[in-house]
Amino acid sequence: MINRLLKRFRRGPSCDEVMEVLQAYLDGEVDVDTARMVAGHLDDCAACSNESEVYQRIKDSLSTRRREIDPEVRAALEAFSRDLRTATD
Ligand SMILES: [Zn+2]
Repeated sequence: MINRLLKRFRRGPSCDEVMEVLQAYLDGEVDVDTARMVAGHLDDCAACSNESEVYQRIKDSLSTRRREIDPEVRAALEAFSRDLRTATD
């Protein structure tokens, strides 16, 4: 799936494409070229940059408080992945 996206990224990513790899990007699971393009897009695009910040905040919260997950955070995470699925359908 990532390889297929990489080919499309050669032309520059759209918001939908950035959303598709955003989680992998923030988890450090994409290659350098992809990371650079996503980072470039996030610099230019307030909507994607905002999504990225939300996801990063959720991730931080999960990693610092593994034992007790705030129900609000869990709800935000669920809503976020629901949005992602909707955006990529
Ligand atoms: Zn965007």
